Amino acid sequence: MIVFRDIRRVGKQRGVSLCKEDRDALLLKVSQELAKQAILGTVIIPFFLILMLLSSGYYTFMPHLSILLCSLMLIAVSSRSYALYNILHNTDCYREKSLRLLFYSAITMAALWGVISGLFIYHYSFEFPVILILMVSVGIAAGSVSSFFMWRKLALTYLCCAFGPSIVVAGVAGSSALYPVVAAMVFFMIFNICQLKFWNEQFWNNILTTFLYKEQTYQLSQSMTDVEAVMKKNLKRELETESAEAKMRQLFDYSYDGIIIADLDAKILEVNQTMLNFMEELSEEVVGKALAEILQGQEGINGAIRDHFEKAKKGKACSFSCWMRLKSKDYYVRINLRRVLWFDQNVLFLTLRDRTDSTAARAQRNLKQQSLTDSDVYMKAILRGIELPLYCKDLQGHYIAVNETFEKICGKTRDELKGKSDFDVFEVNVAKFFSFRDSEIAVSGESVEVKGTFQLGGYERNLLVHKFPLKNSDHTIYATAGICTDVSTLQKTLQTAQLANEAKSEFLASMSHELRTPMHSILCFARLGEKRASVKDWEKLESYFKMIVTSGDLLLELLNDLLDLSTLEALPACTDFQEYDLGEDVGQIVSEFRAMMDERNITLIYQQPLFSLLSNYNQIRIFQVLRNLLSNAIKFSAPGQDIYIDIGTDHINIDGTMLPAWKVRIIDQGIGIAEEELELVFDKFVQGENKKQPGGGVGLGLAICKRIIEDHNGRVWAEQNEPCGAIFTFLLPFSDGVDP
Ligand code: ADP
Repeated sequence: MIVFRDIRRVGKQRGVSLCKEDRDALLLKVSQELAKQAILGTVIIPFFLILMLLSSGYYTFMPHLSILLCSLMLIAVSSRSYALYNILHNTDCYREKSLRLLFYSAITMAALWGVISGLFIYHYSFEFPVILILMVSVGIAAGSVSSFFMWRKLALTYLCCAFGPSIVVAGVAGSSALYPVVAAMVFFMIFNICQLKFWNEQFWNNILTTFLYKEQTYQLSQSMTDVEAVMKKNLKRELETESAEAKMRQLFDYSYDGIIIADLDAKILEVNQTMLNFMEELSEEVVGKALAEILQGQEGINGAIRDHFEKAKKGKACSFSCWMRLKSKDYYVRINLRRVLWFDQNVLFLTLRDRTDSTAARAQRNLKQQSLTDSDVYMKAILRGIELPLYCKDLQGHYIAVNETFEKICGKTRDELKGKSDFDVFEVNVAKFFSFRDSEIAVSGESVEVKGTFQLGGYERNLLVHKFPLKNSDHTIYATAGICTDVSTLQKTLQTAQLANEAKSEFLASMSHELRTPMHSILCFARLGEKRASVKDWEKLESYFKMIVTSGDLLLELLNDLLDLSTLEALPACTDFQEYDLGEDVGQIVSEFRAMMDERNITLIYQQPLFSLLSNYNQIRIFQVLRNLLSNAIKFSAPGQDIYIDIGTDHINIDGTMLPAWKVRIIDQGIGIAEEELELVFDKFVQGENKKQPGGGVGLGLAICKRIIEDHNGRVWAEQNEPCGAIFTFLLPFSDGVDP
């Protein structure tokens, strides 16, 4: 191992003992220093060697030896360069080997130098200026040695190798001219060795001092940095603590929540301003009191307060809401109780938040919301329920709500109207009508009625609008509304009602007349009979009874008609249908009337078909129809006239489908019906202009016929017969008409 013994010695002398790391660091530094100083010699020595060989002519004198020496020198130079490179660039791993290489390559170079010097002296002591060569050699050697003063072993070996051969050759050569040279060389060697010793110690001393100084400076700066960092940290912490404390204090003072800080025995330590405001107390009056005293007697927390304290003391946070009476006022409060570290002390931290307003406000809000929802529901129900067209507009004249009937008469949907003004949706004249006096109502609060006629929703409307304001509970007007009445419909209804009334009066008059006439004759003949009973004029009596029977029959017929009509109108459509032969049934009714017609000298012509005319119907009702039509035909025919009945086929349109039907026609040649009365005669209590004709009646027969035929999905109508008389036709579907 390469050891720099001098460093130990100097260290010992100065009483410095280095640890292993420091020693290694120092050695590394020394090696690198050594390497730096050896760079120059590595270049100069081979340069001068070659220069000497060439300039002295030794190269031509002994070329082989010169080449050999040069080659050896090159090898040594390469090794030394390699060693220097490693030392300068590698810190640790190759240092040992590189130092060894440096040592031996340097010695080799010195030895080669010495050998050449010796050879020169031996061969050319008289022919060449040897002195000059030697002087150059000495200078180079001295320079080289100076770079090795730090490594004494190397330096001594180097000197011996470099000068030894020259001195020996010079001594052997025995030339008196060389003595002074030899003496100078010896002297120079001794001088160098002495210098070496002196420099050596100084060098190591300096090295050690520098190293120690640097080390200490570094350590000092390091500890200074540490101290600085610690101081900075402390300062920062102090500032943070200060600001945190200030913040906490601010939070405590300005918090919207009331805060009480108590020790773990629940004695109040501090109270913030909000809490003092709640309690209407001064800080001095509260601090020092027991927390329970403040909260004692409060509704809802009496029993539980101790439990809450205990819980909080154990470090469990607890919160609860309750009503609390503080001085003069009741508060609904949310209390939060917890244990916290407050300026290095464990305390109970009680926060109290006033929620009175929020709870009450929420309750009020809910109530209002509810009533709004309710009124909305009522409003909608009212709008739906009212059958008259109705609208609501805001004070700017924009529609807020309309009902379905209003939508219908306007021909606009709710969505089309909502938020729009009249002028946005209607023609100018309609818009003017609907908006007329709106603003006046909004100001005066009086309701008004406006009337107008115009085209609306495709119809001519004659509207009467009752406009009125909508007021809040405090009587402020917030909207206007209007209820429309279609006067034209009203007028029509009035007309219909008047007509109905007239018909009723007429009917009553006619009925009373019709009823009175037979009743009168019944009573009349009954009284006559009563008188004649004692006389026992049986023939007369019989004729009276006959008259009574006839009048009774007439009365019965009238009553039957009335009863029939009321039954037909009260009951749903007759559906008791069965299959019958219509031809045969018509024949049956014809034979019923045969005697009557013979009596009146009227001929009834009916050709009963040979085959069955099957159809589904209610036989009793169809008989009723045939009887009514036939009796009318007879009633309005004069003696000697003919009545025809024929049955054919036709089609009837039922719900868009053409169905086959029997067509029955009763044709007479009687007084006939006026053109304008052909439809009217089927209405109840309607009698034609010919009603004055004999036979009576109240105008119900045809109405009953119409109802029966329609119940069968058939149709009945009247026509004029040419040249005189009337034709009554009815169509009866083959099947019942319900399911053809
Ligand atoms: P009434 O019992 O009055 O006859 P109807 O309803 O049977 O009632 O007839 C109504 C009116 O139709 C009759 O008053 C009459 O004017 C007219 N009418 C009905 N049938 C005939 C007919 N065959 N010829 C002329 N007019 C008739």
